[in-house]
Formats: sequence, structure tokens, C-alpha cells
Amino acid sequence: MAKLWFRYGAMGSSKTANAIMVAFNYEEKGLKPLVLKPKIDDRDGADIIKSRMGLTRKCGFVEDFFYGTVDEICERLKAYDCVIIDEVQFCEVKTIELLPRIVVKTGIPIICYGLRTDFLLNPFPASEKLCGIADRIEELKTVCWCGQGANCNARLDAEGNVVRSGAQVMIGGSESYTSLCMKHYMAGDIGEKMREAIRASHSASSL
Ligand SMILES: [Zn+2]
Repeated sequence: MAKLWFRYGAMGSSKTANAIMVAFNYEEKGLKPLVLKPKIDDRDGADIIKSRMGLTRKCGFVEDFFYGTVDEICERLKAYDCVIIDEVQFCEVKTIELLPRIVVKTGIPIICYGLRTDFLLNPFPASEKLCGIADRIEELKTVCWCGQGANCNARLDAEGNVVRSGAQVMIGGSESYTSLCMKHYMAGDIGEKMREAIRASHSASSL
């Protein structure tokens, strides 16, 4: 039976690379995957998802398929063998709420990739909803600079300090992020390599 999946992980846990590989696996078998992202996420260009490893792929937009009634949405999806949604944390909760009915009605699996929590460790509303309704929930792992598993998405200011307040979504801002374990998130310790990189970018821009 087709299932609704939520594969979550901190930044740098290869979510997009995994999404691209799953789409490739479907195509290799002669099947047709539909790869989507929410319109709010246009960091990599309008209709592209891009992994840190360098893999890229064309995608469509969640909003262009998921509108109208459930029957209408199912009609739009029926030409595909699976739906893959990247950056799912930016979807609207009302869209997420429809996913189980769409999976059951179409028999098409929907595989969602995204962050579970923001830089303050608060859940994104779409991710929180998915945690409640997904048939399968899997964690994609990444590591802190100390080698421990990293679950915290730390937002950094220009000096490399861990930011402790601000808006949940700041796409297109100049802020940067790094994944830290809980101990180093709480301590605000981003590691020597990251500090070095920030110092280097400062001295480069002052030349
Ligand atoms: Zn650590």
C-alpha cells in the first residue's frame, strides 16, 4: 500500500540529494516521479532543487498541483508514480492535511523531505503536522563539528554568533546556518573550522 513519508533531518543531512536519488531510481525503472518544492523556496533558482553535493534537478511547485478539491488534486497527480516534495517545512499546513487522503485515493506514495525544527528548535507547522500524520517517519543524519549527531539548525550572525531570536523563515537573507549537536548549540560553539571560515570571509571582504 502506498504511504506518506516524512524524512527529516538538520541542514546538511542530504535531504535534497536523497530526494534526487529517489526520483532517479523511479526513472531508472521506467516510472514517472513528480518532484516539487514550495514556491517560497527560490534560493536555488525558480524551478530547481540543488543539493550541497552538487546534484541538481528540475522541479515543479507544490502550489501548482495542490489546489482545489482532493478529487481535482488527485486528477492532476494520476499521471505520476510517486510525488517527492523537498523543503516541505515551507508548505502550508492545509496542504499537508490533505496528503493522507490523496495517498489513499490515488495509491501514489508521497515522500516529503524537510527540516523538523527551526533555528530556535521550534517545529515548523508543516513538519509538526507531518509528524502526526505520516505513515513512516525517518531521520536523515548529519554530524556536528565534534563528530556527534547534529539535530540543531543554528542560525549565525555575521560574526558567527548563534542567533537566539528572530523570524522563523528568512529565505534570501544573508544569514547562514550550521548544524550542531545539542551541547554545542546550547554553548553557541560553532567550532574552529567555521570560525576560521567566517574570519576569512571578513578579511576577504575588507581587502
Ligand atoms: Zn557538537
